[in-house]
Amino acid sequence: MGRRAIKEYRAAEALQLILADRDKERLACPSCGHQTIERTPKRRFVPSMRQDTYRQVTLRCGKCGRQAAYVPRNVTQPSHPELTY
Ligand SMILES: [Zn+2]
Repeated sequence: MGRRAIKEYRAAEALQLILADRDKERLACPSCGHQTIERTPKRRFVPSMRQDTYRQVTLRCGKCGRQAAYVPRNVTQPSHPELTY
């Protein structure tokens, strides 16, 4: 305890979380299973005047502190990557 270094997901875990967010599914931490994922910006807060699709979205687990970030416009993976493995 004590250190607050940013922990990152492994690539596969990050992708899972990112795709779930993109598809507006219920978020859960791919690493520890915790269901409190802090999303920045929050989904509720969507500016209607301009769709800022270049904006980065950050997803952070409230328990283990791992985080992933992505730019929605850049995510072009299929919705269910496990089908393509
Ligand atoms: Zn976690």
